Amino acid sequence: MPGIYVSYPFCAQKCTYCNFASGVFPAEMEQLYLTALRHEITAHEWLWQPETVYLGGGTPGNLDPDALRSILGLIPGRPWTEATMEAAPGSITPDRARAWAAAGIGRVSLGVQSFVEREIRRTGRKHTAQVVAKEIGVLCEAGIRNVNIDLIAGLSGQTEASWRESLEWIERLAPQHVSVYMLEVDEESRLGKEMMLGGVRYGAADTPGDDATTEFYEIAVERLATMGLARYEISNFARPGWESRHNLKYWKLEPYVGFGADAHSFDGRLRYANPDTVEAYLAGDPARPGTPALPHEERFFVGLRLMAGVRPEPADWTRFDAPIRRFLDSGLLETSDGVLRLTSRGVLLSNEVFQEFLGL
Ligand code: SF4
Repeated sequence: MPGIYVSYPFCAQKCTYCNFASGVFPAEMEQLYLTALRHEITAHEWLWQPETVYLGGGTPGNLDPDALRSILGLIPGRPWTEATMEAAPGSITPDRARAWAAAGIGRVSLGVQSFVEREIRRTGRKHTAQVVAKEIGVLCEAGIRNVNIDLIAGLSGQTEASWRESLEWIERLAPQHVSVYMLEVDEESRLGKEMMLGGVRYGAADTPGDDATTEFYEIAVERLATMGLARYEISNFARPGWESRHNLKYWKLEPYVGFGADAHSFDGRLRYANPDTVEAYLAGDPARPGTPALPHEERFFVGLRLMAGVRPEPADWTRFDAPIRRFLDSGLLETSDGVLRLTSRGVLLSNEVFQEFLGL
């Protein structure tokens, strides 16, 4: 059963490390965008009932509740198995949380990134750990108990002690799901430019190196496991049964349809992408033509992200015999009962493994 992704690329502020096609736009543009989004969803020919819905961004949690209701009202298949909304801490009121639940949202993904105020301020965000704690309570009272918390390892000013402090907050708040991303600074982000040109505004000089960031990630894997949050995908940790049903579709190569700027779709055979900026989307630029998926290569490239691993078909063992042998010998892959998976060390060097299977 396919999933639906809706892109809402509007944010209250532009985070210093972010280089998505999202950010702060004039209010008129947001209205034009919502109108264009409604047209795109209305024009879609629904040949099936979606199983999951994911509102990503940007910060869809800032959407006006009436606009949210009208957009979700255009998507069939409710009650969906899972309907997620990304939200920024510091914006969740009891009225808003109730409106989300009434509109069909049952899961909220909070872009916390850090619980340490010094680190949060440097990203450009305004919340505190106490605000996150209070808002999780607000969500719970509104009936939304499926909460994800995003953390970033490698933020400017982060130390092992401050990273452990963020993980202690995770233990205290006990969310069902946690995502841990290792910061990769894009040259086009404000932080990236400061790193190249020098400067002190965004704390570029205090950004931990790759080794420290990797160490923080490994600390998280260990600590989260002791809290009952098992790693099921390279960046994702969940209590049993609380894995993201929607995101699993990407890793299991199941179909999904994306609406809005820079949204991607996959029909099981071809991949499509909408115009990648708000401006191009509003100008009515057509979706980029579909490109064929590479079923064999992608099974490894995407499937190996899952800790459950992949079960290669007999022909795959022959086709990828050389890289499989090499990575088994070097300890980056392991195999049992016909399943191939990354080892703990392989997770840290996963890009190297993936590129090999994609033939780059
Ligand atoms: S990180 Fe998220 S909230 Fe911050 S600017 Fe980028 S999309 Fe917006």
